[in-house]
Amino acid sequence: MQRICVLGATGSIGQSTLDVVARHPDKFKVIAITAHSNLDLLVELAVKCQPEYVVISNPDLYQQTKTRLSRAKIDVELLSGPEGLVEVAKLAEVDSVMAAIVGAAGLLPTLSAVQAGKKVMLANKEALVMCGELFINEVQKSGAKLLPIDSEHNAIFQSLPDSFVYGDLASSGISKILLTGSGGPFLNTPLSTFDAITPDQACAHPNWDMGRKISVDSATMMNKGLEFIEAKWLFGLNSDDINIVLHPQSIIHSMVQYSDGSVIAQMGNPDMRTPIAHCLAYPNRIESGVKALDFADIVNFSFTVPDFVRYPNLEIAIQACEAGQYATTALNAANEIAVEAFLSGIIRFSDIAKINRNVVEHTQPEVLTELQQILSVDEQARALATQYLQRDCA
Ligand code: NDP
Repeated sequence: MQRICVLGATGSIGQSTLDVVARHPDKFKVIAITAHSNLDLLVELAVKCQPEYVVISNPDLYQQTKTRLSRAKIDVELLSGPEGLVEVAKLAEVDSVMAAIVGAAGLLPTLSAVQAGKKVMLANKEALVMCGELFINEVQKSGAKLLPIDSEHNAIFQSLPDSFVYGDLASSGISKILLTGSGGPFLNTPLSTFDAITPDQACAHPNWDMGRKISVDSATMMNKGLEFIEAKWLFGLNSDDINIVLHPQSIIHSMVQYSDGSVIAQMGNPDMRTPIAHCLAYPNRIESGVKALDFADIVNFSFTVPDFVRYPNLEIAIQACEAGQYATTALNAANEIAVEAFLSGIIRFSDIAKINRNVVEHTQPEVLTELQQILSVDEQARALATQYLQRDCA
C-alpha cells in the first residue's frame, strides 16, 4: 500500500490524482491533503478520502476549516500555514508526495518532501525554475525519487533508455530532446488583436483542462519556457540539447531523438491522469480512466516551429535559462505577478511579456547557492514587477 500526501489537492492536478487513486483502493491510501482557499472542496475531499491530516495553508481560514470538518464529522489532524505544508510533506507515515501546489508557494513543501527522501511526483514546475541546482543537489543527497508529472517531461522520461545517466545524452546515443507544445489558444489569432485578449479567452485551452495560472502561461507560451528550464534540471541538459516543436493536437507529448535517426515519442489523449498514473505506479502500469487513443479519430497530425514575435515569453525564458539561476528565479516571480494582474483585469495580455523582460533585465546577475538568496531574489523581483505594472501598464 503506497501512502500518499497530495499537496494542492483542490487543484486540477490534485483532483486528477485523487481520481486515479480512488480507482485503486488496494494500492493507495491518502494520508494528507492540502488546500489554500477552496474550503467546500477541501471538506468534500476529506469526506471522500478520509485522510489522517488536512492542511489549510491560508492560516486565516484555520478556525473556519476546523468548524466545517467537525460539522462533517471528520476526525483528522488539522494543520495550517506554510509550516503545515512543510510538515505533512515529510511525515514518516507518507511514502510519496504529489507536488501540485501552483507557483512559488509549492517550493518549500516540495523541498521538504525531497529532503525527507520521499518519492516526489513533481507537477509544481516553478520549484525547479526557481531553484533547480539546489533542488537537484538535495534530490541526489537525500536519495529521493523524483518523477515528472508534467506531460512533456513524463513523455521524455518514458522515451529515455533505462541506461540514461543524468546529464549525459551522448553515452545513450541521444542527439536531441524534442519538447512539444500545442501553441495554446492563440496559435492563429492575429497579433493585432492580442491587446484585447480577455482572461477567459486565455484560459480556454483547446486541448487541456488546467488551473488558470498554467492556462495563461500556455497561452503566452511562458509555460513552454518554464518547461524548457524544468527539462534542463530534470535531465541535466544544455539549452542546445532541446528543440521546441509545435504540435497543435497535443497527441505526442514529447520525444527523444537518437543519433541513429530513431525518434521515440510518447502519445496519448491529452489527460493528465496518464502521467499521474504512470508516476503513481512506476515502474508498473495501472488503469487511469483515460480514454484509449483511437488513431481513426485523428484528422490532423501537424508540426511547426514557434515564432518569438507571437510568443515573446518563450524567448525571454530561454534567454533566462542561459543567463542562470538568478534570471530564472526573477522571471518566475515576475510572471506570477504579471499573470495574476492579467487575471484580475489590471494589465493587458501583451503586458505580461513586457513586465517579465523588464524584471529579468533589471535583476542583478549573481550566483545563487543558498535557499535564502533565492527567496530574496524572488521577493525583489516581485516588488520590481509590481512597480512596473503600476508604472507602465496603467
Ligand atoms: P490549480 O490552480 O488548479 O490548483 C492549485 C492548487 O494549489 C490548489 O490546490 C490551490 O488551493 C493551491 N494553492 C494555491 N495557492 C496556494 C498557496 N499560496 N499556498 C498553498 N497552496 C496554494 O493549479 P493546477 O493543478 O493546474 O497546477 C498545479 C501545478 O501543476 C502548477 O505548478 C502547474 O504548472 C503544474 N501543472 C499543471 C498541469 C495541469 O494540467 N493542470 C499540467 C502540468 C503541470 P485552493 O484551490 O484551495 O486555493
